[in-house]
Amino acid sequence: MPGFQSFNCRSGKSNPTLYHSDSLASLDRCLTSSVEAHESGALKDNQTRIQLLQTILSHAMAKKEVIAKNYCEESSLDLVRFEVEFERCLEQISHFIQSLLHSEPSIDLLSDRRIEKRSIAMGPVAVFGASNFPLAYATLGGDVMGALAAGCPVIVKGHPYHPGTSLLCAEVIHDAASALHLPQGVFGHVLDDGFSLAESLVSDPRIKAVGFTGSFKGGMALFRLAQQREEPIPFFAEMGSLNPVIIHPSVSGLEKHVKNLALAVANEAGQYCTKPGLVFCPEEIWDEALGMFSTFLKGIEPHPMLHPAIHSNYVGHLARLKKLANVSYEAEILPDHFGQKAFLSLNIEEFVANPTFSEEVFGPFCIWVRYTSEESLQGAYKKLKGQLTTTFLGAEDSLSPQWRNQLENHCGRLVFNGVPTGVKIVKSMHHGGPFPSTTDPRFSAVGMDSMKRFQRNIAVQNTL
Ligand code: NAP
Repeated sequence: MPGFQSFNCRSGKSNPTLYHSDSLASLDRCLTSSVEAHESGALKDNQTRIQLLQTILSHAMAKKEVIAKNYCEESSLDLVRFEVEFERCLEQISHFIQSLLHSEPSIDLLSDRRIEKRSIAMGPVAVFGASNFPLAYATLGGDVMGALAAGCPVIVKGHPYHPGTSLLCAEVIHDAASALHLPQGVFGHVLDDGFSLAESLVSDPRIKAVGFTGSFKGGMALFRLAQQREEPIPFFAEMGSLNPVIIHPSVSGLEKHVKNLALAVANEAGQYCTKPGLVFCPEEIWDEALGMFSTFLKGIEPHPMLHPAIHSNYVGHLARLKKLANVSYEAEILPDHFGQKAFLSLNIEEFVANPTFSEEVFGPFCIWVRYTSEESLQGAYKKLKGQLTTTFLGAEDSLSPQWRNQLENHCGRLVFNGVPTGVKIVKSMHHGGPFPSTTDPRFSAVGMDSMKRFQRNIAVQNTL
């Protein structure tokens, strides 16, 4: 039976382990166990879920070293980044534990009745993670832990470019569930290097909700499948975004801002969903700002991309853009799968005339757009689709209420005088935004809101 291997873009070689796609029959067994686990009420009790999450924490710590090795080999991200992402996962799990410890039902005592409203699990949940966060948007990530905290059995389709990391994290969850004598079906994991298992999983009537993180193309293909089912289900996709940055004439400390911007664009080859991909700059500081950006970008060390498919998508995108406009990039010789840092500059009229410039380019690239009036800037911004973030570099009080309203209406997080990268796991964080950045802007895979996505309310009424 042919198998597949992950790839190390740093060394330019395939990793040695051969993995095999699971069969439809094994997916079917997984779905059956998942339903049995749900119907048995194994995760109904808050205390059990707290214990499960605590046990996952300790098992993850015990396997940290071997997970780190696989993570680095399969993603070409380094150990420093691994530590950050691993900590982020542990932190998020701890937040769920705290939230479960403090959850209370709502109760009303009326003259003739008592009504109690509780949140209950939706049922088995399918999760698909993205390749740029092999832990935090994957098997140990917010979707999976949020669904388990909500009391739902989960089936993960592991990312085919980090199968080893995904299987090790799956082992952590399996072992934690076994240690607590929970049914095997509380967690399932399948691998596939094609789309057929993903499509079967989303279409299967036994799945009651889906969490997806990844590209717009992949997210929408599966979202449509979920909506076409006889019983449509909630499908929470978090997809790509341009993350526009507006440099305002009132900006102070331009050099520091532009330096941070260059780092946010090209650090780790710009492979973040919050990477700033579009910068609006006023003409009066255009030459100065763009000159500094180009210099700072040059100083950032080139980085391997996550996997060959993401690299070839990036190369293809740049080639298409080069036919439309003047793309600036360093003529440096890079190892095969490294991301070539690049940017493109346009006038605002050229930008609005061609929708291709408003597509996410995943990699160390951004578009600079020169504006001549606030009116033209507002017109161009209004035409943008929904974004995860918008960044404003300038004096907050220079925004009129209407202009600020427009900024807020288009994004899930409005950043003043900072960069959009670096999502923190805190209560106040919201990581989502209007379509197409997500299919449901009310919730997010980051923080406690991810748990709410997989629960529904039930009211129980007693006559007094
Ligand atoms: P991806 O190619 O869309 O892959 C994500 C998962 O979906 C993989 O398991 C993939 O399987 C599966 N998939 C993709 N297309 C599919 C289809 N048509 N049918 C069935 N399954 C499909 O995404 P990625 O390249 O790993 O990640 C990069 C993207 O994720 C970027 O666009 C980035 O902005 C976005 N992202 C968003 C967030 C956020 O929070 N909004 C966070 C991280 C990343 P295969 O690999 O087999 O295709």
